[in-house]
Amino acid sequence: MPELPEVETIARGLADRVTGDVIDSVWLGSKPEPLKSPAAELVSTLQAKRIADVRRVGKHIVFDLENGGGPPTPARRKSAGKSARPTRAAAQWIVHLGMTGRMLVCQPDAAVEKHTHAIAKLASGREIRFVDPRRFGRLSVAQGFQAAGSEPLDVEIEDFVRLFRGRKTPIKSALLNQKLLSGVGNIYADESLFRARIRPRRRASSLTREELRRLYPAVQQVLKEAIELGGSSISDYVDSDGEEGFFQLQHRVYGREGEPCLVCRTPIKRIVLAGRSSHYCPTCQR
Ligand SMILES: [Zn+2]
Repeated sequence: MPELPEVETIARGLADRVTGDVIDSVWLGSKPEPLKSPAAELVSTLQAKRIADVRRVGKHIVFDLENGGGPPTPARRKSAGKSARPTRAAAQWIVHLGMTGRMLVCQPDAAVEKHTHAIAKLASGREIRFVDPRRFGRLSVAQGFQAAGSEPLDVEIEDFVRLFRGRKTPIKSALLNQKLLSGVGNIYADESLFRARIRPRRRASSLTREELRRLYPAVQQVLKEAIELGGSSISDYVDSDGEEGFFQLQHRVYGREGEPCLVCRTPIKRIVLAGRSSHYCPTCQR
């Protein structure tokens, strides 16, 4: 599953390629699962819009749309059905990649892959395609979209400390709670806790202020390093050019059960917490 660094990298890749382009028309497949907003609303919100920016919010890719694609042509109006109406003010196209979702920017003559659920045809002639074999990804439109939790790379340290103080859940679960921090996934939670020398099962409320102040830079460093490397997805991730992308972050604990800790040589332990694998060094982490 793409995590925050992968989504950041994809959003940046898309921003480089399609910012300023205009969505001329939209094709949607027949499978209902990928459409979180009604099909007609997706189409009417996207078409004839200029892509002002593409950015990451939590683990979502957000296309900021603005009017400026010119008035809908009769052809556009027809394809949108009866929901066609004058273009709205700024809106967002929100893409969640789920487990296997990919965003491709390609030429129109590129073969359409199996499991393509949406195609946005651009004024430049290229197409943005959403491909998702397992169909856990979601497409929606909104105005003023915001993630539920705080952005881990922007949150201030005192706000970060406040998020976790007094919580009775394990700190690992709290890190994964998207209503607290937005976009921290399993791999990066394990890696952050290792760097902060905190065991995943510790109750958040048992962490001292000092430990929380150690966790804060650990989370940010892990995410920033992974973004610099271009994300570290371990699944079959492909970037917005359709190229196999992404070096793997040197995981210090994640996926290293039984292997020696890189600091003290103690074998890395794996436990299951709230249904998720958690990896830690029983010596370095307390
Ligand atoms: Zn260790």
